[in-house]
Amino acid sequence: MSQGATSAAVVSVGNELLFGETLDTNTAWLGRKLATLGIPVVRGYTVGDVAEDIGWAVRDAIQVADLVLVTGGLGPTPDDLTKFAVANVLGRDLVVDDRVKESLQERFREQGMDSVPPTAYDQAYVLSGSEPLHNAEGTAPGIFLRSDEAIIVLLPGVPRELKDIVNGSLLPHLERLQRDAPDRVWHHVIHTTGIAESRLTALLEERLADVSDEERLGVGLAYLPDVRGVDLRFTAFGPSRDEAFARMAPLVQSIEDVVKPYRFESDSGDLAEAVSQILRERGMTIATAESCTGGLIAKQVTGVEGASDVFAGGIVAYSNEAKIALLGVSILDLAEHGAVSETVANQLALGVADLMNSDIGIGVTGVAGPGGGTEEKPVGTVWIATSLGGEVEARICRYSGGREAVRVKAGHAALAAVYRRLVDSTA
Ligand code: ATP
Ligand code: MG
Repeated sequence: MSQGATSAAVVSVGNELLFGETLDTNTAWLGRKLATLGIPVVRGYTVGDVAEDIGWAVRDAIQVADLVLVTGGLGPTPDDLTKFAVANVLGRDLVVDDRVKESLQERFREQGMDSVPPTAYDQAYVLSGSEPLHNAEGTAPGIFLRSDEAIIVLLPGVPRELKDIVNGSLLPHLERLQRDAPDRVWHHVIHTTGIAESRLTALLEERLADVSDEERLGVGLAYLPDVRGVDLRFTAFGPSRDEAFARMAPLVQSIEDVVKPYRFESDSGDLAEAVSQILRERGMTIATAESCTGGLIAKQVTGVEGASDVFAGGIVAYSNEAKIALLGVSILDLAEHGAVSETVANQLALGVADLMNSDIGIGVTGVAGPGGGTEEKPVGTVWIATSLGGEVEARICRYSGGREAVRVKAGHAALAAVYRRLVDSTA
């Protein structure tokens, strides 16, 4: 095994996870965290508070991954069996760690007790040859050890404690190991929005067919969709960032012009942040007039730090009366075309930009459902308009997935439309 880790497995321990009383959020959280280090989680196990089952999972995990994380069953109660089970698998003893013992004594002294209760004292036992990882949120330390086959880390089940240990000591430690590794995984992420995963995949795979097998070798491409859009994640191994990127370059270049109309730049992958950054650079402001999204767009934009520089204000114009009285939407147009129409979306965008004296206006009006749909305008129909310097553009979208999904998708689409117009207006 190299110094670092190339793949990980997560073992979740707890009867409550199997009985459905607790949702296993730890595995998901760990998966996301490890991905940031370029370590994919390749297998997950859920077992009850049974020593043999924990042992089975850890033994199996060691075969498939070189980093094994075990969460839960680390506490002092009799059903906490993780340490015993893992010690058994690895043929190690449980020994008292003086540093843990002292920090336990310290902790109980602070709480006004002169001695550590015998059950809590069990926490001072760790596997021989391991390193305790400090837990600022509880008494059970994490345990870090290396065997011939893998790095094994035992973590408490309580999410708050697990996060404290992982963020505080495990990740920095793994990061150092990854840096020293002869070969590590590097990622290059391209964020896209406004195109369905199936269509994007078809377009890209057609392009990638032209790239030679030799150039494709060792370069991975993953499609990572969510409500906002699809991230394309390229992966390659290499001793340095530059070398790994050089290996990805032929693939990345081959798809560049296909993704260009959908691409957006943001370190965090957040569209509102991407929009805000451009607005700030250009000294521009934005205002929102939202019907079916009920303020979601305003919430997203104001969620970005320093929003007061770029966000003028927003109005949730839900009723026709509000649209007329606050934003100057025409009664006649409402009667003739209905609230969910191109002209009303346009008037919302222009009206709010005028009212708030902003450079950009967003107008969104649609049928979020579940009721209110018609044959002509079924549930999921949304008109999205953007005005830039008084020039308005609108488009119709049709979304599925239920009320909340329609609202969230429409909100993202509106931000994407603004992003596109801002980028294109300098092109
Ligand atoms: P403690 O020191 O508190 O006993 P522990 O390591 O023994 O910690 P558990 O007893 O297994 O952990 O679980 C403690 C709490 O953490 C429980 O409330 C449980 O619901 C929650 N928990 C355990 N595992 C997970 C998990 N995988 N995802 C989310 N929550 C979890
Ligand atoms: Mg417990």
